[in-house]
Amino acid sequence: MSARRISILGSTGSVGEQTLAVAEEFPEKFQVTGLAAGRNVEKLASQVRRFSPPIVSVADEKCAQALRDAIGSQSVEILTGATGLDAVAQCESDLVVAALVGAVGLGPTLAAIRAGRDVALANKEVMVMAGALVLREVQRQGVRLLPVDSEHSAIFQVLEGQRREDIAKVILTASGGPFRTWTPERMAKASVAEALKHPNWDMGPKITIDSATLMNKGLEVIEARWLFDVAPEFIDVVVHPQSIIHSMVEFCDGSVLAQLGLPDMRVPIAVALAHPERLPLELPRLDLATAGRLDFEVPDRKRFPCLDLAYAALRGSELAPAVVNAANEVSVARFLDGAIPFPAIASINSAVLDEHLRHSAGSSVRDLDDVGEADAWARAFATEQKTTQPGRCV
Ligand code: MG
Repeated sequence: MSARRISILGSTGSVGEQTLAVAEEFPEKFQVTGLAAGRNVEKLASQVRRFSPPIVSVADEKCAQALRDAIGSQSVEILTGATGLDAVAQCESDLVVAALVGAVGLGPTLAAIRAGRDVALANKEVMVMAGALVLREVQRQGVRLLPVDSEHSAIFQVLEGQRREDIAKVILTASGGPFRTWTPERMAKASVAEALKHPNWDMGPKITIDSATLMNKGLEVIEARWLFDVAPEFIDVVVHPQSIIHSMVEFCDGSVLAQLGLPDMRVPIAVALAHPERLPLELPRLDLATAGRLDFEVPDRKRFPCLDLAYAALRGSELAPAVVNAANEVSVARFLDGAIPFPAIASINSAVLDEHLRHSAGSSVRDLDDVGEADAWARAFATEQKTTQPGRCV
């Protein structure tokens, strides 16, 4: 493999940093040609020094000036805002790593696909908000979409060499998050710090809260529905607290194939970066005898109502997943700000989905404007939702 040119949308986030860590370990295999970050200028400056990308992007002009000051005479084109994100998405590269968090990643990821770039997708909201649109564009451009989300990477690996029509069921594993064994009463009083303590994975704050509510697994059900073109009734979730099995596929003959490993995002990142090669990563290895046991349980849909919201959204309308996603971004931000209690995340998301389905059941997605409108409406409605007591939405 000659050096693969990669650009990263969201380079200072958790997946972005781990992508660069993998690239740094194999300098003969990867060349970084573009980096897009938000406001973490200090971290981006260090990345620019290490990888010398010709083009970078930051949130705004103030950040751009701070970056210029930080990197001194080093020659690099610095762009800002949505234009900058699109420019990095379309810059000279073989693979764009879409590692932004949330709705902001949709536009630039589509821009990358339309520019004919293969995409390593960590930004699950892209598929959640506009899966049908994205898939259409991927097919039209003939580019590859390589999942980075650990569950979807597992399914992707398991499906290689298999016929899609032989799939009987896709089974996503879920760690269960930090509140897997908590009572509803205790969950109602959960602090932000407690919700941010993920038992197995090292991830950013938004996705860690989503793991605590199981909204993350719900979003992953929607993501799987589009990535693998499987109807929701053929997608199951099983709680597996050790996070050793990253997901499974059951085939029509009853065989279940799984992908296993110690939980480390560098593995799915490396699979996407080097595909179809595998990189000799120097990471601790899975020893099943040391692991001792693998446990499984049914998810508690009462304590974690966000999981079923995802299925309801998939059944409700083509726009409903974008609505749930937008509501959830608002409610998680409000929780992280200390403005609402933990159970209010689910009740706000649910109230917003109900309101959408009351007016727009069966609505379809024609273009990005439809998605943008639904997203904006859901954000406004979620922001207005008041909570008078823990978990109670009025
Ligand atoms: Mg995941």
